[in-house]
Amino acid sequence: MFKLKICTAGDPVLRQLARPLTVGEIRSAAIQELIGYMCDTMRDAPGVGLAAPQIGVSVALAILEDRQDYALKNFTPEQLAERERYPFPLTVIINPKLTVIEPEPVEFFEACLSSVGVIGIVPRAYAVKVEYLNEQGEPQVLQAKGWQARILQHEIDHLHGHLCIDKVKPRSLMTMESYVKFWQDKSVLEAKAALT
Ligand code: ZN
Repeated sequence: MFKLKICTAGDPVLRQLARPLTVGEIRSAAIQELIGYMCDTMRDAPGVGLAAPQIGVSVALAILEDRQDYALKNFTPEQLAERERYPFPLTVIINPKLTVIEPEPVEFFEACLSSVGVIGIVPRAYAVKVEYLNEQGEPQVLQAKGWQARILQHEIDHLHGHLCIDKVKPRSLMTMESYVKFWQDKSVLEAKAALT
């Protein structure tokens, strides 16, 4: 277990365009080791995604994973269904190119390991396609909808220097403490009606 320090909003590395990796670099011991450390760090946080700039390395690499135990800890089955949130295995995406398939925005609360202590409602496209290289440097295509599409958009934004707090509906931005107290158990429609 090797836990890396997560950079927080205000660190310039989070605002840079991450550089693509060559296949040779992807297969190098250094990048393979980085991927392993990022997995440990993401699971320890815990989080459902982590982009290399978040641990201070400005390369176009991110990892994502959603596990049943994370989801069930914080959401009811109804809330999971509303979010179309289902578990998926560890996925390493390198040099990703994202295409929006279904642009109709869906709005839910979204947080980030780099924006500590705050959360807000962020509109995201419902469905996306991502072309990328996997951890062996092989080309892959992934089509995703619902929560997995949201995570992909969030992580790929990191590689372009964007944070979810850039896209949050400003009047919905709140402390995590208020979120837990007022909105965690409510539907997002109730929160939108009261806040935005
Ligand atoms: Zn993030």
